[in-house]
Amino acid sequence: MAGWQVESHGRVMLPALENAPKTDQQWLEWAFDHRDSHNRIRAAIKKQYGYDLTDYQIEPINKNALTQFLQNNSQLHGDMNGILKLQSEDLEDANLQDEKELSAWIKIHYQEHVYAEAKLGI
Ligand SMILES: [Zn+2]
Repeated sequence: MAGWQVESHGRVMLPALENAPKTDQQWLEWAFDHRDSHNRIRAAIKKQYGYDLTDYQIEPINKNALTQFLQNNSQLHGDMNGILKLQSEDLEDANLQDEKELSAWIKIHYQEHVYAEAKLGI
């Protein structure tokens, strides 16, 4: 999947989304690329499907309010996957402060972005 994307677009998509952020700087980059992906997905859905999806706040990420982030992100994923008829994983029930849970979550979450962008051809 990743190879296909690099080939068809000539650049690496979702650069920071694949790896679990550790430092504050990596979290900032992850949050930026994440919002960028959701913005592009919502714009493409509007264009291709005619639905104007809600822009739930996902950046900046407040590490003291990760539950809110997880809820908002889950809303975005539920909305996009519903329209794209893609499978939704449970992305809300995770403890992102735990290193193991974070790295598992990052991978599942990244896949949903890859599938959504691939389906939309963006
Ligand atoms: Zn997301």
